[in-house]
Amino acid sequence: MTDSGHVFDMVRHWEREDPGRTALRFGERAWTWGELATRVRRNATAQAAAGLAPGDRVAFVDKNHAACLETTLACGLAGSVNAVVNFRLAPAELAYVLNDSGARVVFAGAELLPVLEQIRDDLDAVERVITVGGEDDDYEAFLSSGTDSEPGHHAEPDDCFLQLYTSGTTGHPKGAMLTHRSLAAHSAAAADAFGFTRDSVNMVAMPLFHVGGTSWALAGMSMGCETIVVREVVPAEILATFGPERVTHAFFVPAVFGFFLQVPGVADFDYSSLRCLGYGGSPMPTPLLRKAMEVFPVGFYQVYGMTEASGVFAVLGPDDHRDTAHPERLASAGLPVGGVEVRVVDPATGDPVADGELGEFQVRSEQVMGGYWRRPKETDATIVAGWLRTGDAGRRDEHGYLYIEDRVKDLIISGGENVYPAEVERVLAEHPGVAECAVIGVPDDKWGETVKAVLVPVEGATIDQDEVIEFCRERLARYKCPATVDVAESLPRNATGKILKRTLRAPYWAGRQRAL
Ligand code: ATP
Ligand code: MG
Repeated sequence: MTDSGHVFDMVRHWEREDPGRTALRFGERAWTWGELATRVRRNATAQAAAGLAPGDRVAFVDKNHAACLETTLACGLAGSVNAVVNFRLAPAELAYVLNDSGARVVFAGAELLPVLEQIRDDLDAVERVITVGGEDDDYEAFLSSGTDSEPGHHAEPDDCFLQLYTSGTTGHPKGAMLTHRSLAAHSAAAADAFGFTRDSVNMVAMPLFHVGGTSWALAGMSMGCETIVVREVVPAEILATFGPERVTHAFFVPAVFGFFLQVPGVADFDYSSLRCLGYGGSPMPTPLLRKAMEVFPVGFYQVYGMTEASGVFAVLGPDDHRDTAHPERLASAGLPVGGVEVRVVDPATGDPVADGELGEFQVRSEQVMGGYWRRPKETDATIVAGWLRTGDAGRRDEHGYLYIEDRVKDLIISGGENVYPAEVERVLAEHPGVAECAVIGVPDDKWGETVKAVLVPVEGATIDQDEVIEFCRERLARYKCPATVDVAESLPRNATGKILKRTLRAPYWAGRQRAL
C-alpha cells in the first residue's frame, strides 16, 4: 500500500481514502488518518525547526506511546532517524545505547526522566530532552512548533529512518538501520502473511523499541488498519480489551501467553473478533502452545523474525497448527514469507547443507537492513554476498519448514562433536525436579569444551547431580550429556526474556577465548 515504498506514502494514501476513519488509538485518545497525517507533518517540520538535518538521529525512550510511532513516521518524512531505545535497560546500558545512536534530541517518557538525569553527564551528543506524557509534557508543544506543510526532503529507498537495536542476547545491542525499502518489503510480506486489511484492528502490545512492536504496527498501517498502541502488557487488561475493541490482530512473546493462562477466568473473555494471534521472538514451549490453542479459539501464527530482517521472515500459519497429520510442525518456525529466500549453511565451511541437516539459517530479501549503525566490520561479517547470517542454527525439512535449534554461538563443540544445547534442554525439561534449565559449554583441557547444565529446581525439590546425569544418559548419546550440573535460583535474562548464555558462561571462560 506504500505507493513508492516511502513510509509516509501510506499515511498520505489513507488520509486521502479514509480521512475521517480512526487510524491510531492510545489510552483514551484516538486520531483519524487526517489528524495523524497532520501530526506527523508537524513533528517533521518541528524537527527541522529544532535544527535537525537529514541523517541526524533522534532517540525515543519510553514505554509504548503513540508519539513514538508518529516520530518514526515523521523521521521518514524529514530524513532523520528515530533510534528507539529499550526503556528497561540499566542506566549504564542506556547511556551506552544513547551514545551509540549519537542522538541530539531525546524524546523521553516522563517516567524515564529520573534515569536520564542519572546518566546526563555521560551523554555525549544529547542537546535537548523532550518530555513525553505526564504533567510536564513537552511533546504537544513541540508539535505546535511545526507547520502543516511537508519539509520537502526527498528520501531515497535505501535511506534509514528507523534504528532498532538487537536484543543484546549474544553481545552488545547493535543498531540495525531499517530503511524505506526494507520496511516496505516487510510490510507487504507481513500484511499478506497475517491477513491485515482495512477492516482489521491491530493491537500493538510488544514494545515499540522491538521489530515486533514498530514493524508489526507499520505493517498493519500500510493496509489501513486501526492501530491500538498498548502502553504496557497487563495480561488481564489485554484479555478484557480484545472483545470490546473488536481486536482482530495481536502479537506477543511466548512468555506473555504463560501470563494469560494464569489470569482467572481466562477462557471466559470475549475472543470472537480475533483472527490472528501471533507469537514468537523466542522459542514457544509446545505444552504452553497446546494449552493456549485450547483456550483461544483463533488462528495462531508463529513468527520467526529478527531485527536485522526488519521483523518477521518466516511464519507457521493456523492450518499448520491444526494439521493433525503433522503434529511435529508445532515445533517449527514455518515457511519463509513472500519475497524471502532462506538457505541453510554449514557455519564452518559456508556450504549449503542437505535438507534435514543442521546449519545456520541465512536470509536473502529486500527486508534485510541497510547495515549496523557505525559498525562496518560487523555489518560485513553479518551480510555476506547478499545473505544475512541469522546466527541461528537449525534445519529445514523436505517440505521447506524451518526448525530453529539453537544460536550458532551457543553450540558446544566437545571432542569434535557438535552438541546443540536445545536438544539437551528438552530432555532436562522433562525431569520432574527441573523448573528451568540452560545448557552451556565450559572449557575442558581434554575435550575443548564439556557440557554443563544449569538448573533451577521446582519449588521444594532438591537436585542430585548424578541422578540428573543418569536421567540424560538414558535419553541422549553420551557426548551430549552434561558432565557437570549447577543449581541456580534463577537464570539471567535480557529485557525481552531471553536467557543470557554468555552471562552464564562468563565465569568459566574468564581469560580464555571460545572458538565460536
Ligand atoms: P542479539 O542479536 O543482540 O544477540 P537477538 O538476536 O536476541 O539479540 P532480536 O533481533 O530481537 O535480537 O531477536 C532475533 C532472534 O530471536 C532470532 O535470531 C532468533 O534467535 C530468536 N527468535 C525469533 N523468533 C523466534 C521463534 N519464533 N522461535 C525461536 N526463536 C526465535
Ligand atoms: Mg541477533
